[in-house]
Amino acid sequence: MIKKLVGGNLYTNCYIIADELSREAAVIDPVGDFKYINDLITSNDLKVKYILMTHGHGDHIGALPDVKECYNAPIGINPADEELLSNAALNQSTLYENRTVEATADIYLKDNDILKLGAKDIKVLHTPGHTKGSICILFGKELISGDTLFARGIGRTDLYGGDYEALINSIKTKLFVLPEDTNVHPGHGGSTTILAEKMNYSII
Ligand SMILES: [Zn+2]
Repeated sequence: MIKKLVGGNLYTNCYIIADELSREAAVIDPVGDFKYINDLITSNDLKVKYILMTHGHGDHIGALPDVKECYNAPIGINPADEELLSNAALNQSTLYENRTVEATADIYLKDNDILKLGAKDIKVLHTPGHTKGSICILFGKELISGDTLFARGIGRTDLYGGDYEALINSIKTKLFVLPEDTNVHPGHGGSTTILAEKMNYSII
């Protein structure tokens, strides 16, 4: 199961992925009005097991304090982005979300780590470039791509920790090697597939 909510000043996508059998769920990039996240969790009878961050930018964390307080699930982020998450001057949450958010990680998400929702695997892909600690999250055939890969676009690399060469390398070596029918769900805008983006970026 995968559900999407859009929230925050920059229309960021928050995703909730869940194993339908066990009802165990992960909230990815909690942003926007917490009420909508909680409505979705309760109406689907889900148990939040993880709060996962694709990266530490302020436009992806607006509802993080509410989600943490309500479900008390561990917050996971790549160690290279914890400095963003824990420092509002770096994550710019006050600017992006009109709310100052600082948090610390409970678990670190590293390349090829596997987390479990029921019997199903969540696989972590470390994809530096947009930020040093950007990750993509693979759940079956669904890829939550954060701000690394968009429908017909790639992440910006002009912010703190951004690196264009690293971003292109991450997309080539970590994402474009996935099955072409993998669905890609970015941090902003609509979804796409690996095949569609490979065709768009045949130059890469
Ligand atoms: Zn970002």
